[in-house]
Amino acid sequence: MTVLARALDLTRRYNGTIALDGVSLEIAAGQVVGLLGPNGAGKSTLINVMTGVVRPDAGRVDLCGGDPRSESTRRVIGVTPQETGLPETWRVAELVDFVSAHFPEPVDRTELLDRFDLAPLADRQAGGLSGGQQRRVAVALAFAGRPRLVFLDEPTTGLDVDARRALWDGIRSFNADGGAVLLTSHYIEEVEALADRVAVMDRGRIIADGGIAEIRGRVRLKRVTLTDPVLPELVGVSSVERDADRTHLLTNDASALVRELVTAGASFTDIEIESASLEDAFLAITGDRRAT
Ligand code: ADP
Repeated sequence: MTVLARALDLTRRYNGTIALDGVSLEIAAGQVVGLLGPNGAGKSTLINVMTGVVRPDAGRVDLCGGDPRSESTRRVIGVTPQETGLPETWRVAELVDFVSAHFPEPVDRTELLDRFDLAPLADRQAGGLSGGQQRRVAVALAFAGRPRLVFLDEPTTGLDVDARRALWDGIRSFNADGGAVLLTSHYIEEVEALADRVAVMDRGRIIADGGIAEIRGRVRLKRVTLTDPVLPELVGVSSVERDADRTHLLTNDASALVRELVTAGASFTDIEIESASLEDAFLAITGDRRAT
């Protein structure tokens, strides 16, 4: 396993706030790592330190064998920070050519635009694009230099479903060619769809790190879904959510819950029992800490 990025015991404070509190993280070649955490957990600070934009107070970063601030390292990574601005009068194709010119072996322009479904926008000026289209261009530009590792901070926030899927396709094709990605997202289903590994941050620390199935498995929660139930008082149900005619009950012991429903003579149809989603696990992992 080739480790492309290694963060070792990073600490970073902003005045009184500790944004990173001893964070270590490794990203291997070909991995897509999703970085999850509530607002203020330190995700953007971690990306900014790993990409050399912010200096850590302590700890160090090794990116593809070099320092993140060195020029040779910058040529093998791609970054889309949370906020990006594009020069308004430049056409999309010109932007791609400009960024590509900084790299020794850039991706062919047509190929890059096709990968991210941006070919129809090639001749449009950046200033005339919608916010979502600008975001897609900004993300695609991170891939222009044929990087080995790409950092994406909330790549699809504010995008509609089609635009999000176009970006997912681009990220997947990069990964299929062996590229590694560290991405943050507000959309847990995005991490579930793209990542093979997830790191959960809270209050400047990594509190869970593992494969998606492993993280899901860290909580024993099951989701029991019923249609039109008339529910008795239930013990051992940690949450009840209603969505249209379906009712979702989260529980640590689905068998006991089903026995309880049957014993109580509760009426329901279409019962379904599933493992907790990544979102359920994330809420349980970060929520448990909040409660302590
Ligand atoms: P996340 O990306 O998970 O939302 P951030 O890395 O943006 O978290 O922030 C982590 C903590 O560091 C927060 O408490 C935030 O307010 C603080 N912080 C981040 N950047 C700055 C900054 N430039 N100046 C002061 N505080 C900051």
